[in-house]
Amino acid sequence: MTFTVLNPATEEPIAELEQAGVEETDEAVARAKAAFPAWRTVAPGDRARLLRRLATLVEEHTEELARIESRNVGKPISGARGEIGMVAQVFHYYAGAIDKHFGETIPVAGGVAATFREPLGVVGLIVPWNFPANIASWKLGPALACGNTVVLKPAELTPLSALRLAELCLEAGIPEGVVNVLVGKGSIVGQRLIEHPDIAKIAFTGSTEVGRLVMQGAAGTIKRVTLELGGKSANVIFEDADLERAAASAPYSVFDNAGQDCCARSRILVQKSVYDRFLELLIEATKGIKVGDPADDATEMVPLISAAHRETVASFVDGEPLFRGDAPDGPGFWFPCTIVEATNDDRIAREEVFGPVAAVIPFEDEADAIRIANDTPYGLSGSIWTRDGARALRMARAIEAGVLSVNANTSVRVSTPFGGFKQSGFGRELGMHALEGYSEIKSVFISTES
Ligand code: NAD
Repeated sequence: MTFTVLNPATEEPIAELEQAGVEETDEAVARAKAAFPAWRTVAPGDRARLLRRLATLVEEHTEELARIESRNVGKPISGARGEIGMVAQVFHYYAGAIDKHFGETIPVAGGVAATFREPLGVVGLIVPWNFPANIASWKLGPALACGNTVVLKPAELTPLSALRLAELCLEAGIPEGVVNVLVGKGSIVGQRLIEHPDIAKIAFTGSTEVGRLVMQGAAGTIKRVTLELGGKSANVIFEDADLERAAASAPYSVFDNAGQDCCARSRILVQKSVYDRFLELLIEATKGIKVGDPADDATEMVPLISAAHRETVASFVDGEPLFRGDAPDGPGFWFPCTIVEATNDDRIAREEVFGPVAAVIPFEDEADAIRIANDTPYGLSGSIWTRDGARALRMARAIEAGVLSVNANTSVRVSTPFGGFKQSGFGRELGMHALEGYSEIKSVFISTES
């Protein structure tokens, strides 16, 4: 069976690919299993050299990979270049991390106790369509650094950059069988990986709904699982904030990648005393977003991933919004930047839209802001805008989310841990913390008694 990969900006086919089934999945797992004993014993310095070579190859192919990603996801080309730049940085980082991830000796009676970091074996990596190469690298980097072999399943809609990355792995000298990519359905290939007895761990990024299935499926073999799931993050604007800066930044924190971002600050909480002024500034800033051809260097806002997804996003907007931007006519899964007024009980404020729709919610004071920010099943990201440093820290400690920023809307850095609280998942990616998710600690006692 083959399936067709589309360009979301034109709806034109850009590739026709064979779909893997259960048999191909089992074969890929067997290849990864066979490659594991040799890969885990590659000397740390050599493994680091291989990962560095991969990082350098990604740098050398930035333009090619960025164009693949831009056409397949409908991303602005300038953003896609940045994302591929991050992929290279991730491989550089984990190349450098390999010999800094070590055990300890622990004082005990009668001998020496030492800990070792052992690889898990074959790891299944299941990734979504919104940042395909980036999220794949966040898992590949630490998994390979720890000495695991992998089977990577990209999302059905966006497999092209993962296939190219697998070729670059081989070109870098990473042995055959260490990195395997399977193009296929989540319900078939993904499900098989989750249940496969030779897979030691599933590293999953995707929706909370599928995350639940991953946990259930993994229970049968007590598989390790890390989950990076959905979000409904709050961008909290206090009356003492630099309102101009906060308003200039807010649209990009929810409309970037057409809102298809797990960290999207899609609930904008604004203190009542500055609500009207902030709304004016927010709408003005949103009007400035450049919507158009993803291949154009100046483009900031792009189409959604598919027709079906556009329908879902549209279902969140009933009635007249506070603001609706422009979107091109003609082919492509376009949806305009949209700002609506809401209470935190409305569907728009409770569910992840995963599209360019922001809900603006007023609040009274700090306690009210904390209550609203935390009144969600999710806990991935968020921002606090205030000039009061003590308040910023109080808020940062009180908000139940894994990744927060103060007077900024950033979430992701190569060297800092990334992941969620509550139903946004568990486990951390990026930084040195990610290595914990791809290794087991082994404790060894050596008697010194004669
Ligand atoms: P999705 O859950 O539908 O799919 C994610 C991956 O899981 C895909 O590769 C898909 O093929 C696979 N899959 C689907 N059904 C499966 C099954 N039954 N068994 C095994 N695998 C299966 O998510 P999506 O629509 O691709 O991506 C959007 C979601 O991802 C959003 O909820 C978003 O918030 C989330 N996301 C989270 C993060 C994060 O780091 N927290 C990052 C990006 C996206």
